[in-house]
Amino acid sequence: MKIGVIGTGYVGLIQAVGLAHLGFEVVAYDIDLSKIEALRRGEPPIYEKGLKELLQQNRERLFFTHWVEDLRDSEIVFVCVGTPQDAKGKANLNFVFSAAERIKPLLTGREIVVLKSTVPVGTNRKVQQLLGNSAFVVSNPEFLREGIALNDFFNPERVVLGFGESHPQWVREKMLKVYDYFLKKEVPFVITDWESAELIKYASNTFLAMKISFVNELARLAEKVGAVIRDIAKGMGLDSRIGDKFLNAGIGWGGSCFPKDVSALIWQFKEWELEPKLPKATKEINEEQLLWFLNKIKRHYGGNLSGKTFALLGLAFKPYTDDLRESPALKLAEMLIEEGAFVKGYDYVEGARRNVKKLVELNTSTRYSYGLMVCDDLADTLKGADGVIIAVEYREWNREHWDEFARLVRHKAIFDGRNILERKLVEELVNRGWHYEGVGVKV
Ligand code: NAD
Repeated sequence: MKIGVIGTGYVGLIQAVGLAHLGFEVVAYDIDLSKIEALRRGEPPIYEKGLKELLQQNRERLFFTHWVEDLRDSEIVFVCVGTPQDAKGKANLNFVFSAAERIKPLLTGREIVVLKSTVPVGTNRKVQQLLGNSAFVVSNPEFLREGIALNDFFNPERVVLGFGESHPQWVREKMLKVYDYFLKKEVPFVITDWESAELIKYASNTFLAMKISFVNELARLAEKVGAVIRDIAKGMGLDSRIGDKFLNAGIGWGGSCFPKDVSALIWQFKEWELEPKLPKATKEINEEQLLWFLNKIKRHYGGNLSGKTFALLGLAFKPYTDDLRESPALKLAEMLIEEGAFVKGYDYVEGARRNVKKLVELNTSTRYSYGLMVCDDLADTLKGADGVIIAVEYREWNREHWDEFARLVRHKAIFDGRNILERKLVEELVNRGWHYEGVGVKV
């Protein structure tokens, strides 16, 4: 079966490579020629562990193209284009509708067009209206996590499929055939209507963001009363009704999905004249969290960061990705620079460092250009720093040579924005003269 994929970003490329690995012939189309050229050379334009190897391994079943006509004869076409937020926080669906319009002339009425992009309620219906009788539209929201995206592709926790009420039975059967690998693995399937499938995605992301915002807000109280948020989260998380995931206090959530999806859900409530109380609070707490953390840092330096140099450990929005979208680390860098500080940044992922360097070069007239320097070496990052800020939760920070860091920095202060350093290590570091501050942690 020939399968088409529209958009070769984080979702589309994983979908294309994953399906090729499962044995399908895949044609992946993108309007971005530079991405297609890189993919044809066997080089993924994004970093994801194991992706390059899998791409090269399955090259004979993968065809990358800049010509939409090459999608002709695809029995199923997965739409994986971006749905960023517009200036008001609403989902911008231009890429989705433009993709649908481009493929419409190629469709014959027997194809299935699957929306993998995260889209607000009513979008699948609108795309079906746009395509008319030329194809059947199916909602299949994506839940992969960047950093472990390939693992998530092959081992999803669920597959959600939303169908239109008048879709013939063969459409369902064909979708189940494509996902037979997951059925055999007994992955749970949620088969539902378009609207429910669309909302499952927004509800899931907003709920996860809400858990983090809840624990972050609680961390502020914990700190005031002398409690330890990590212990509180552990005590909560052992209750299976709560679960222990997404209860790590820190500098807040970012990334390509949570911010825009929480905002888009807020909009959907408003459009239906409902008050989005929890999503709104979730967003507000997150917006406050970085400022709360910045103030913590400022207090340590007597309220003045002017002329101080900080080593910023972690640049992307989470570990093992080069994706900088809505990265709390970069937002914090900007805030520090605004306070007159100089920031030296490092990330273990080379692509993340490269992408920040590009940002710095592009924004020659902004704060970034003179306040942020990206180092390719951890020692260079730490040299002469007045403080070390951990902004991305790499466990590796625990295994680094903090004694050597102590010799490199000018002032031994750690601001652990992810509460990632283990308690024993923190105790040792404090005994060796380091000042340590986490989020809702007592030392
Ligand atoms: P992305 O920005 O990385 O990739 C989108 C790609 O689509 C780009 O390469 C772009 O050039 C291409 N494109 C745009 N319009 C096109 C068109 N008309 N024809 C062909 N190509 C076109 O985006 P992403 O992170 O892969 O996200 C895609 C969708 O999946 C979004 O709706 C997002 O919310 C959702 N999603 C993302 C993730 C994630 O972790 N990134 C996880 C789950 C769901």
